Amino acid sequence: MLQTLDLEFTEEQKEIVNLSRQLAEKKIKPIRMKCDEEEHFPWEIVEELRKADLFGVYLPAEYGGLGGGNTELCLVTEEVAKVCGGIALCVAGTGLGTIPILLMGSEEQKKRWLPDLAGGKKLGAFAITEAEAGSDATALKTTAKKDGDHYILNGSKSFISNGEVAEIYIVFANANPAKGPRGITAFVVDKGTPGFTFGKKEQKMGIRANPTYELFFDNCRVPAANVLGGEGYGLFVAQATFDFSRPGVGAQAIGIAEGALDEAIHYIRVRKQFGQPIISFQAIQHMIADCATRIEAARSLLYNVNKGMDVVLKEAVSRSLASGKTVYQELRGLKPERLTKYSAMVKLFCSDVAMQVTTDCVQMCGGIGYMRDFPVEKYMRDAKVTQIYEGTSQMQRNEIAMMIIKEYATAAKAQAVAV
Ligand SMILES: Cc1cc2nc3c(=O)[nH]c(=O)nc-3n(C[C@H](O)[C@H](O)[C@H](O)COP(=O)(O)OP(=O)(O)OC[C@H]3O[C@@H](n4cnc5c(N)ncnc54)[C@H](O)[C@@H]3O)c2cc1C
Repeated sequence: MLQTLDLEFTEEQKEIVNLSRQLAEKKIKPIRMKCDEEEHFPWEIVEELRKADLFGVYLPAEYGGLGGGNTELCLVTEEVAKVCGGIALCVAGTGLGTIPILLMGSEEQKKRWLPDLAGGKKLGAFAITEAEAGSDATALKTTAKKDGDHYILNGSKSFISNGEVAEIYIVFANANPAKGPRGITAFVVDKGTPGFTFGKKEQKMGIRANPTYELFFDNCRVPAANVLGGEGYGLFVAQATFDFSRPGVGAQAIGIAEGALDEAIHYIRVRKQFGQPIISFQAIQHMIADCATRIEAARSLLYNVNKGMDVVLKEAVSRSLASGKTVYQELRGLKPERLTKYSAMVKLFCSDVAMQVTTDCVQMCGGIGYMRDFPVEKYMRDAKVTQIYEGTSQMQRNEIAMMIIKEYATAAKAQAVAV
């Protein structure tokens, strides 16, 4: 396994790494190719992850978690993704469906849903994308019409990870189309709610062990008590969620890159051409050096950002437990706009590293690297989606640039006032 910089994780965090690594090596490695080939979702691995208590590592103990933060979630995701990026998504995708409840949920909502998600008894999913609303989520057309103490949802969602296997879905719909994006509202919708059905299962390039589905809502009655953050707050729910979930995509991307490099190095150490091992050629050694350096840079960015985020998140959680306000309300006093910039940077950088490293790994291995019965091509296929979901790389760049422009504008305004 590739040796990486000691980032001074705690003993508990190192234990999480060891546990996840052992599970991935012993249980996931033997079945990953079959899961990929057959697009099979491995419930047996979900059971192993549940037994090892790895679903709720980042959730507060008050809601059944281990009391960690983004760092712990990313450590599990990275270790699993080293072996299979697709299987890692059942953890990270559940995180994406859980974070909105943690951040925006009332105490009653958190107590209702978080313990089952923390224990892995139920998987989560997050549904914002629609056929005509991808990068521009404000264009979503699913509606939510108020009817007494319920909302009636009508519409559809596209490309939803953990589709069908999840029990708890965060669904975005417009409760007041006249208000445009300010009508967008987030709902928690339980699987089995009448009027909520699944459509097409997508056939994908990579992460094939994770099911990606269309969702349909046909006069689906959802209690008003399932609204997260209040009517019209949907875009805040989405943005706050992405601030904390995008590093998870970064961790998945880095895991994929590390796994690919590990497989490639094992092969090129023994493969000989011109009477010598492939790894002895300087052109190949330079590729190894570039891959390993990129991985180190990406890991350092990821876990440094996580460290800062966890301080803020834990402070907001503890204030929220004392005040009864939501974690998001407490976070707002703790500069959430900086989280947006850094989490976008993590996702952008780590996913680009994953794509570049896995492509180089195929190159280093030559023809066998391109073949299905050798795992390196799977890593390259799995890497691609990390540049697309939870906002494409272009959208991350847009957000980062926008935040920097805003920072300079604010500084210039402050300076003008001072003068
Ligand atoms: C495997 C998979 C799983 C997914 N899982 C989920 C999920 O669980 N939940 C969910 O809600 N969604 C999910 N998605 C959807 C994903 O988030 C969207 O595909 C993504 O946001 C891009 O939207 P789009 O596909 O409509 O592309 P488009 O928005 O149509 O973009 C097409 C291209 O145009 C570029 N582009 C668009 N707007 C701009 C702009 N303003 N500036 C520069 N370039 C721009 C994009 O970067 C991209 O290159 C998943 C997607 C995939 C492939």
